[in-house]
Order: sequence, then C-alpha cells, then structure tokens
Amino acid sequence: MRDVQRPVIRQLDEAAINRIAAGEVVERPASAVKELVENSIDAGATRIEVTIADGGKTLIRVVDDGCGIAADDLPLALSRHATSKIDGTDLLNIHSFGFRGEALPSLGAVGRLTITSRSGAGAATVQVTGGRMGPVTPAALTKGTQVDLADLFFATPARLKFLRTDRAETQAVVDVVRRLAMAEPFVTFVLRDATGGDSRTLFRADGETGDLFDALRGRLRMVLGRDFNDNALPLDAEREGFHLTGAAALPTYSKGAAVAQYLNVNGRPVRDRMLLGALRAAYMDVMSRDRHPVACLFVDCDPTLVDVNVHPAKSEVRFRDPAVVRGLIVSGIRHALAGAGHRSATTVGH
Ligand code: ADP
Ligand code: MG
Repeated sequence: MRDVQRPVIRQLDEAAINRIAAGEVVERPASAVKELVENSIDAGATRIEVTIADGGKTLIRVVDDGCGIAADDLPLALSRHATSKIDGTDLLNIHSFGFRGEALPSLGAVGRLTITSRSGAGAATVQVTGGRMGPVTPAALTKGTQVDLADLFFATPARLKFLRTDRAETQAVVDVVRRLAMAEPFVTFVLRDATGGDSRTLFRADGETGDLFDALRGRLRMVLGRDFNDNALPLDAEREGFHLTGAAALPTYSKGAAVAQYLNVNGRPVRDRMLLGALRAAYMDVMSRDRHPVACLFVDCDPTLVDVNVHPAKSEVRFRDPAVVRGLIVSGIRHALAGAGHRSATTVGH
C-alpha cells in the first residue's frame, strides 16, 4: 500500500448533502425557475408570476395562486425527500411535475430562500440560507405561495463562476417559461425582469379557455407566433397506446439551429435525444442537413409506459418501447407533411 493517511469516513450533514444534490437539480437560474414554476403548476395555480433580476442570479421570485402550504408543513416542504405528490409505492404512475422532494431543500442549500404561503386560515413564512432554516413566523399573504430565491449559488462559488452572462441566463429563463406555458395552456404566465429596480415584461401568456385542443392551439399561436401558426400542420396520430398531438411546421419554415423544438411527454416538457432524433428523421428527406424543423410535439401515454425518473431534473425520459414512439413521430409528421403536399420517397409505405 502507498503511504496514505488512514481515511476517515464521515456521515455528511444535511446541508452538505443538499448542496451536493443541488448540483444536479439546479444547474443555473433557469433550472431554479423550472422547479419553482412546476411546483406552482402542481399546486393547481391558474396564474404564475415570475420576476428575475440580473439573469436570475440575484433574484428569482415566483408568485402563484395555488393551494398553498400549511404553516405546520413549511419545515417539511423544505426537508429532503419530503413530498406531498407521491407516497413512494408506485414510481411508474406519476401525474405531477414533482415527486422527488428535492427542489426546495436544494434551492435553500445554494441560495437565500424565503417561502411565504397561505393555506386555509393563516399565512406563514420561513427562510433558509445556505441550508440553515429559520423559524416559521406569521406573515401577510392573501392566497397561494410566494417563493423568493436571492443570491443563487452564493453558497457554492464554484457554480456561480460557471454561469453565463445575465443576458444568456435571462434567455434561458425565458425559454423555460415558454416551454412550460406551452405545456399548460389554461394557466396565465407572466415573466418580468426587475433588474435595477424597474420592471419590464419579458413574456406573457394569458390563460386560454375552451377545450384542451382549442386551448393548445391558442397557446401555440401565442407563444410561437402567427408565422408558426400559418405554417404549422396539426398532428394527430396513434400507435400502440401512444398518442401524438401538437403541430409541426412546413419544411419551408425551418430554422438555422435546433432552437424551436418543443417536446412534451405526458404534459412534461423534456429534451429527450430519442424524440429529437425522431423529429429530425421525420424531415430528413424534405429538409437540407443544415436546417432544423420547428415543432411542438405532445406524446401522451399511460404513465406506466414511460419512466420519468431517469435524471434529477427530469428532462430525460425512458420509454418502455422507444421504437414505437420513434415510429409514431416519424410517420405522424410525414403523414401530415404528405397531406400538405410535401411527399417524399420514403413517405410511401409509412
Ligand atoms: P416535489 O415537488 O418533488 O414534491 P419540492 O421540494 O419541489 O418537491 O416541494 C416540496 C413540497 O412542497 C411539495 O411536495 C409541495 O407539497 C410543497 N410545495 C412546493 N411549492 C409549492 C407551491 N408553490 N404551492 C404549494 N405547495 C408547494
Ligand atoms: Mg417540485
């Protein structure tokens, strides 16, 4: 054996454990916004207002009108692996965005987190800074929950150094909110930038009404613009328990980068390689290699046919039968394109 000091095995304390977990869950301000907005959606909110400052580095505030958290539950909501969304018996039957009970403790470990919430009679507030929780005290709030996350990563300076410019981080936040807005058409989303004290709106989408189909159409038009709407083909295809809806743009309406490809699995925005590959394959014969299709796809299936518990950020999924999903996307889009007159050699036979 080399001459090394005898190692000492220590049990890490909760704050250290949370900081380590935060590395996976919270990569940048946009991931914190994603976790907080998903919590608001899970709480049944109809209106979610997000305010950021300095790219989200100094402030992220999320205010919702959801069900709130009872004062007695606040400490629990902030502890690791505590969740109201699953009971742990069936990890293959998940209907909420959250279920790991990791976001709030992680955010509290790497920033200054204040949660104020009202559930039933009274409102209460609690602060966590660098993993240390203060007392729960009464507060004034008429409904829902307000989460303030200040100085993200102040407790992990190495991570802070990896952040990009305020502009780039702001753009990533806008992208996250847009993606969630497309997945939740009935909810009103407002995103503001309050850098330097004055507030300007970065994104806004008012809650759609009507049935889900109309609401989704309205929301896509709102978020992706009229141009997309005028160039998009509605999708509706089914294969072996998987359902594909959404809209895919004509090959003539493409982009120079893969920036407008929105994928959702059971209502959850994802960035899944297999799905992105399928989207690309669908356009292979009708688009040059340096162009990228524009599409918003919704793949829905029984929750037991897909595992969303692949990565802490839940941006990847594993389908039980990926080949079926790939085939559904490729043929569903090609069929829509063929109907619009963009027939390619390989369309025949699908
Ligand atoms: P998860 O979302 O995986 O359950 P979180 O750490 O994100 O874990 O949240 C912990 C718990 O706190 C949630 O299960 C929920 O009960 C509660 N919670 C968090 N945010 C909100 C909110 N905006 N409104 C109501 N309850 C919330
Ligand atoms: Mg959550």
